[in-house]
Amino acid sequence: MTQHVLVTGASRGIGAAIAEYFIAQGDTVVGLSRSGVAPEGCAMSLAVDVSSSPSVSDAVKTAIAAHGPVNVLVANAGITHDGLAMRMSDEQWREVLATNLDGAFYCARAVLSSMIRNRAGSIIFMGSVSPFYGVPGQANYAAAKAGMVGLARSLAREVASRAITVNVIAPGFIDTKMTTGLGSTTDQMTALIPMGHLGTTADIAGVVGFLASNSARYLTGQVIAVDGGLAMGL
Ligand code: NDP
Repeated sequence: MTQHVLVTGASRGIGAAIAEYFIAQGDTVVGLSRSGVAPEGCAMSLAVDVSSSPSVSDAVKTAIAAHGPVNVLVANAGITHDGLAMRMSDEQWREVLATNLDGAFYCARAVLSSMIRNRAGSIIFMGSVSPFYGVPGQANYAAAKAGMVGLARSLAREVASRAITVNVIAPGFIDTKMTTGLGSTTDQMTALIPMGHLGTTADIAGVVGFLASNSARYLTGQVIAVDGGLAMGL
């Protein structure tokens, strides 16, 4: 069955790989990002700021009007703005919380009524191993991604009886624009990964695809680390 899949942060990196995964399966993919860029083959691409509730709600209404109820939401859009907590500005704290956590909530809330009516659906939040591993300089990002786990688990219990699953993927260190330019930090991080190398965007897309499939219909409220063993036991 063709699914209507909404992917945020689809312009590049992990989000683009996820969009391409579902496009290759023949699904109807709507890609959301600030720039409005999305991979070729998307049924629709929309410029959205996920940290703005009205912007998200307008985009989701547009997607549903064009392609019907949303079957799969991948709330993937995210940013980092690292800095030591004692020097972190209010803006630095707020913008990371607003994009990563508020954005995930706004997107989930916007698709829920169509999923509940359908009595089916899969919501996948893109978390991180950061809150489990403890990364200096990422107090804002780790707090946002930890908050996402609470959001997912509350939501999972609220909608489980409607056959809607809600899960979090916690990537480790993945080779994207977010992680390029870190210089020697990349070598230090790589040394900590039991598998000895960074993950690829396809490594994440494959797990997203599984969570959105019928094979994972009994899997909900879980955090799945895809990290080459970096934070095993989280
Ligand atoms: P990139 O920086 O490569 O891409 C980020 C994406 O998010 C872009 O498509 C960007 O769109 C979009 N985006 C950012 N802010 C907003 C916003 N306010 N509204 C809408 N879209 C927005 O990141 P990655 O692909 O590396 O990361 C994707 C997700 O995976 C993030 O949530 C990140 O936290 C998480 N993650 C990544 C890891 C890694 O190692 N790469 C590790 C752990 C988690 P545009 O710029 O076009 O607006």
